[in-house]
Amino acid sequence: MERFTGYIYTITGACGGVYIGSTLRPKQRLCEHLKTGKMMRSVKLLQSPLKMEVIDTRQYKLKKTLRLVEQFFIDNNECVNIQRAYTNRDGMIYKNLKKKDYLKNREHYRELKRKNYLENKEYYNEKNRQNYHKNKEIYNERRNVRVECECGCMIIKRRIAEHRKTMKHRNNLIAKEQREIRERVFKMRKNK
Ligand SMILES: [Zn+2]
Repeated sequence: MERFTGYIYTITGACGGVYIGSTLRPKQRLCEHLKTGKMMRSVKLLQSPLKMEVIDTRQYKLKKTLRLVEQFFIDNNECVNIQRAYTNRDGMIYKNLKKKDYLKNREHYRELKRKNYLENKEYYNEKNRQNYHKNKEIYNERRNVRVECECGCMIIKRRIAEHRKTMKHRNNLIAKEQREIRERVFKMRKNK
């Protein structure tokens, strides 16, 4: 089987955020990323100017292996990647390892996240503000969705936790239970 050269690269934003990717043609890949229309979601999180750097060059037989190596770099570095490079059973194992590692070092990761936020506070606040304005209507709609509580009430979703603590909810539940008992007794008498 013919071998090819695969590259693992990073794209670093002015904000310090890092995207990790793999490619067969590194220069062409950066050009694609820079053309705003074709940027991947993860790269959009980065603040320009962007800087590309090849961090690993190897010979491969299969593209699948290149993606697996890429996923290894994603799992072992702080990066902004949203999409996975490699998914299947092996991918699941990597994911679980990452989760285990996260749970074991939760404090460490929280601290990293906090530090990163504080260092780039203005950037993140601006991002959040833009995001909020872009999705304002969706957020508001979601917040005002009505759902049926187990007591039978229709409640605005964001108020349900509060509602569950009320006397009204408790009384409704008691009434519902008594109604069910009466119905059961009624059925039993009918069946005799
Ligand atoms: Zn209720």
